[in-house]
Amino acid sequence: MNGAPSWLGAALTGWFALSALVFGALLKITAPYGRHTAAGWGPRLDARLGWLVMEAPAVLTVHWSFAKGHPFEAPSAWLFLTLWLVHYSFRAFIQPFLWRGRPTPMPWVIVALGALFNGLNGSLVGHGLFVWRGPLGDGWLSDPRCVLGVLLFVAGLAVNVHADEVLRRLRGPNESGYKVPHGGLYRYISCPNYFGEIVEWWGFALCTWHPASLAFAVWTTANLAPRALGHHRWYRATFRDYPAGRRALVPGLF
Ligand code: NDP
Repeated sequence: MNGAPSWLGAALTGWFALSALVFGALLKITAPYGRHTAAGWGPRLDARLGWLVMEAPAVLTVHWSFAKGHPFEAPSAWLFLTLWLVHYSFRAFIQPFLWRGRPTPMPWVIVALGALFNGLNGSLVGHGLFVWRGPLGDGWLSDPRCVLGVLLFVAGLAVNVHADEVLRRLRGPNESGYKVPHGGLYRYISCPNYFGEIVEWWGFALCTWHPASLAFAVWTTANLAPRALGHHRWYRATFRDYPAGRRALVPGLF
């Protein structure tokens, strides 16, 4: 293991600061894909292909980091790699092809920005966990931070996958349009898929105990909380009978 480079602290500080700027920007401009697609964002491509191109760099960069750091003897490294790959292999290579109907085409600019983010973030997290930090001892697997983090990750993943599955079932073959989702956490919030995703990455940050993973959890929250607010407002403006007690992202709170 090489140890952390001297520029890492400054780079992470900048990365955290950028997430705060992006959060502020996303409160004003909802990213133009899905129901928020708007004219003027340039050429678009099929959403299935868009998600594949956007998410694949997260898989590739973490594999590259793992091969470079070769922490093959460390069970904790295999655990972190497995959690990452379970999430991102599904997101990049399986989920887009499970969608029914016709998902709204995505602007290329969103795909390019998403791919850039996933490449940078995957490299930072991968190098942080597998190259720059020495392997955590075997005792880490029974450390309460690791155990609780894995539990949160798995619970968040289950909520995310279930919520996306509910959305998938709303459309028939060749259908496009939107309907009001029901069941599971949709009883309480408009965006349980985003809620689950946020819980997942805070769990990952806890179980990996590294600032690069923490930065990713912060980024995910900064990205998805404003988008959940955008979806929630859109649902309320679009469906007159939208359940009044439903919140945007956090049951009973927000
Ligand atoms: P959305 O909830 O906006 O949409 C998910 C899919 O369901 C899309 O195919 C969408 O179609 C369809 N859909 C959504 N709502 C309805 C409805 N009411 N009726 C019918 N179909 C509907 O999620 P995103 O596309 O933003 O995200 C997809 C996944 O990626 C989520 O699990 C999310 O958590 C994750 N993600 C993670 C990010 C991160 O920072 N880690 C960032 C962004 C997403 P259409 O495309 O036509 O709107």
